[in-house]
Amino acid sequence: MARRLFLSGLMFFLILVAAAESEAAKNRSGEGRESRSPIPIPSGLAWSALPTHITSETLRQMDFAEKSPSFDFPARKARYFYNGLPDSHCIALTFDDGPNPRYTRAILGILREKKVPATFFLLGENVRRYHDIVCDIIASGCEVGNHSFSHANMGRFTPAQIREELNKTQEEVKSACGVDPRIVRFPYGVSSADVARVAYEMRLDIFFWSLDTDDYKKGVTKEDMVNTILKDAKGGSIILMHDRGQKEVDVVREIIDRIRAKGLEFVTCSEMADRVRMKRYLEGKTGASHPSPAVKKNTDKE
Ligand SMILES: [Zn+2]
Repeated sequence: MARRLFLSGLMFFLILVAAAESEAAKNRSGEGRESRSPIPIPSGLAWSALPTHITSETLRQMDFAEKSPSFDFPARKARYFYNGLPDSHCIALTFDDGPNPRYTRAILGILREKKVPATFFLLGENVRRYHDIVCDIIASGCEVGNHSFSHANMGRFTPAQIREELNKTQEEVKSACGVDPRIVRFPYGVSSADVARVAYEMRLDIFFWSLDTDDYKKGVTKEDMVNTILKDAKGGSIILMHDRGQKEVDVVREIIDRIRAKGLEFVTCSEMADRVRMKRYLEGKTGASHPSPAVKKNTDKE
């Protein structure tokens, strides 16, 4: 009797452990998290329209399942995200070249206060120096992406050199906060067939931008940036800035409420991509071509 009680107790315990482990695995993979997101999407589209076994991660993996994809021009361009769905209410705020010991935290403070998820494309060499800031970015509900290790112009790099630039950054971010970035933005917006191929092999979504604030130019003031953003921001916009100056901190403080007043909602780059893929799936399109209509600027220097 005691033995039977012990055995059923043991069984119960094992079931509990298995259930907890399955839930933890789900959280780690992000599965189920995005698939029923409340973020607005174009009318006629809804996550609930997808079969229950299809999550945003399933759709993402389908884009990396091609046996012999072409990366010649313009085939590779079809894999780039320049913007989200133009008829959505989603907008993405992105910051390149961090983490910066002074300005990244100042921006994060505003984003947390306003509950804005943004995306930070990080340099591996900065991640190595400021692990704790990377953790703060994640803890603030933002996404981190790969921006190479040393801000290299990879246009003429060999595949081995590209792999090293991107791999080292993946490893630095992983060791800083345990997260594997799923997205990449190439320094200077410079791409090539080899760059696109390596990103594909590493299962990284490639992001450019549709709204450049030109903040890196000396003569561009905070007012210039705010005006550009408010004039051009619309559904699907990806806004490019850098978290390396007070000017950007002030701009962030100023634009959030005013962008929301236009009926737009902030999302991370991956959330934007999820909606593009959902729409494509529901419209019966498959394969790797990302619809990127309304591309404002051709940032692919090739
Ligand atoms: Zn950069």
